[in-house]
Amino acid sequence: MAEFVISGVQVVTPRGVRAGGVVVREGKIARVGKIRARGELVSAPGLLLLPGAIDAHVHLELPVAGTRSADDFLSGTRAAAAGGVTTVLDFTLGAPEKPLPKAVEERLVQAAPAVVDFSLRAEMIGWTPDRGGELSQAAELGVRSFKFYLAYADSGRRTPLGVLKEAMEAIRKLGGVAMVHCEAEELVDPGGGPFPSARPALAEEVAIAEVAVLARRTGCPTYIAHISSADGLAAFRAGQEAGAPLFGETCPHYLLLTEEVYLREDGHQFSVTPPLRTPRDQAALWQALAQRELQAVATDHCPFTREQKERARGEPARLPSGLPGVETLLPLLFSEGVAKGRISLSQLVWYLGEGPARAFGLWPRKGGILPGADADLVLLDPQASWQIQAEALHTASDFSPYQGWQGRGRVVGVLLRGEWLVREGELLACPGQGQFLPWSYGSARLRP
Ligand SMILES: [Zn+2]
Repeated sequence: MAEFVISGVQVVTPRGVRAGGVVVREGKIARVGKIRARGELVSAPGLLLLPGAIDAHVHLELPVAGTRSADDFLSGTRAAAAGGVTTVLDFTLGAPEKPLPKAVEERLVQAAPAVVDFSLRAEMIGWTPDRGGELSQAAELGVRSFKFYLAYADSGRRTPLGVLKEAMEAIRKLGGVAMVHCEAEELVDPGGGPFPSARPALAEEVAIAEVAVLARRTGCPTYIAHISSADGLAAFRAGQEAGAPLFGETCPHYLLLTEEVYLREDGHQFSVTPPLRTPRDQAALWQALAQRELQAVATDHCPFTREQKERARGEPARLPSGLPGVETLLPLLFSEGVAKGRISLSQLVWYLGEGPARAFGLWPRKGGILPGADADLVLLDPQASWQIQAEALHTASDFSPYQGWQGRGRVVGVLLRGEWLVREGELLACPGQGQFLPWSYGSARLRP
């Protein structure tokens, strides 16, 4: 199937929605627009054609709290494919004595069974400025973004601000991006577990304010992971207004759930860091999305089985923190965002496509529907309804925070580089079909 046509669809891009179609040739998009049907034809009247979604924040096979996140690269990326996600951005597994290039090479071996394309950020754990040469070695391997934690001192993952500043200077020279988990350690009570009483919005606000100053002073493009609160958002905006090159991410669980779930009998199953917050925070995040102030909506997909969390019930400090999300990202954001009028279709594909692709060196190969881009495409039926049942999802977890939720906008077809991962609702993805995506252009460019 070297060339085929998808016609009769509404083509969705951040610049608008147009009736038409695409020509796919050798795995790439060859033409977009009014297409005269010829050759093999996929006619899909009434369907939306979206760019394959990018989930800019997943943790597959992540060792955490004495256990491991439930999805490996095969189950996690099968779940991604089923939900219309054709690219996932994961991380290396950093450790104090492990050189960054070695961490990249090890992770590439683990990721080999992936069914969707993927790239990596190098986790900076125990890194010191005298190891600066490792950054360009990682860049030679295609990794030009680096992940830092300002919290988690007890597990040794925290980066002191002085080290962060030196790293940001080096990353700026490299033309890369720093990705930062923003919670100020001194304002967090690790013994209190992943709950708002122990991890207040204040910790997020202070950390974002600190990182914004470093970003402004070093000029390093800096991606703030999982903004969860109105206060965090205020610090983010203030930083941008002062000239810091910041771009922000939030996650479906902060948009759709609140801290009230912790009162439920199974409240511990919702443990996630940063924790879920209040309706006021939720409203502020939706408003930021509607104003296109953020760069990505990503899931921080880090699932556990019910049993894994059950073991630590009653011991908050030992509770593994993380929620599944990659498979429900696009359907939930379409249904709760677009169908409910909170964001537009064009905004949806910015947050799941062009926004994260630009932030992480993948644009224009990924994240858009334009000639020359990979033919990563989703056919979505905007009228079809769904109900989320954890047991029907493809993640290795048996828990979904959205169990029983109903909505509309069903993913009916998914293409990765012109090959069907999902066709007429059936998952066809094969192990190893995914490819590693090296950082593919000069430096991070946030906006068109
Ligand atoms: Zn994360």
